[in-house]
Amino acid sequence: MENQISILLGPPGAGKGTQARMLENQFGLVQLSTGDLLRAAVAAGTDAGKQAKAVMEDGDLVSDDIVIAILRDRLGEADCAKGVILDGFPRTTVQAEALDALLSETGQRINAAISLEVDDGAMVTRISGRYTCGGCGEGYHDSFKQPAKSDVCDTCGGGVFKRRADDNAETVASRLEAYHAQTAPLIAYYDGKGALQSVDAMGDIDAIAKELGALVALATA
Ligand code: ADP
Ligand code: ADP
Ligand code: ZN
Repeated sequence: MENQISILLGPPGAGKGTQARMLENQFGLVQLSTGDLLRAAVAAGTDAGKQAKAVMEDGDLVSDDIVIAILRDRLGEADCAKGVILDGFPRTTVQAEALDALLSETGQRINAAISLEVDDGAMVTRISGRYTCGGCGEGYHDSFKQPAKSDVCDTCGGGVFKRRADDNAETVASRLEAYHAQTAPLIAYYDGKGALQSVDAMGDIDAIAKELGALVALATA
């Protein structure tokens, strides 16, 4: 599993984060979410975070320069050497080309770019019911994935949960628009490189995880 690099493509709420976490556990890979990295930068009040905050609240894409710099720094950290699952990056053609350049510097390549296919109609429900554990980051949903014991995280036992500021109906519309205009073209980009796989992501979480796990295992073999 050395240097395994998989990309999860898909609109907001498709299940990228949920599935990336499961792949992380299954394969010992590192989940690399630019959304999480940006939210950490906003919380820490870094220059990048200050510039990203309002853009994220509006549901627009943060500038390529900021995101690429954040991604490059994180990818260079030691734990990423065993392989990563990119969740939410790349989101534009400029980012995809920057990733290719970055990987070729170190002789790495993309093993699989997997597109999670979902209906736009499901997105609002998925996003408006999303919450996460404040302790460990485990993701939950008001209807689709509740902890076994209410208000107690299955993974860490914590009892503090949070919701994202941008997970509201108004922002979802701009996020979907940004996805279709700027990110969806990456499906053709990776297809052109012979790296694209697609998964029907309308089913239940465990069935999708099984299918994705098989694709990631195959891409590494
Ligand atoms: P993304 O990272 O693509 O934005 P998430 O993984 O955060 O998406 O999922 C969005 C919300 O939908 C979360 O609340 C999650 O628990 C829930 N969810 C994820 N996958 C599914 C699924 N296959 N069916 C129903 N709900 C799901
Ligand atoms: P989701 O997949 O649920 O939309 P993310 O956590 O991936 O959520 O992203 C949240 C927000 O962070 C995006 O709406 C965007 O403003 C910003 N963001 C995350 N990743 C990128 C990226 N690769 N390029 C530009 N903006 C990004
Ligand atoms: Zn937890």
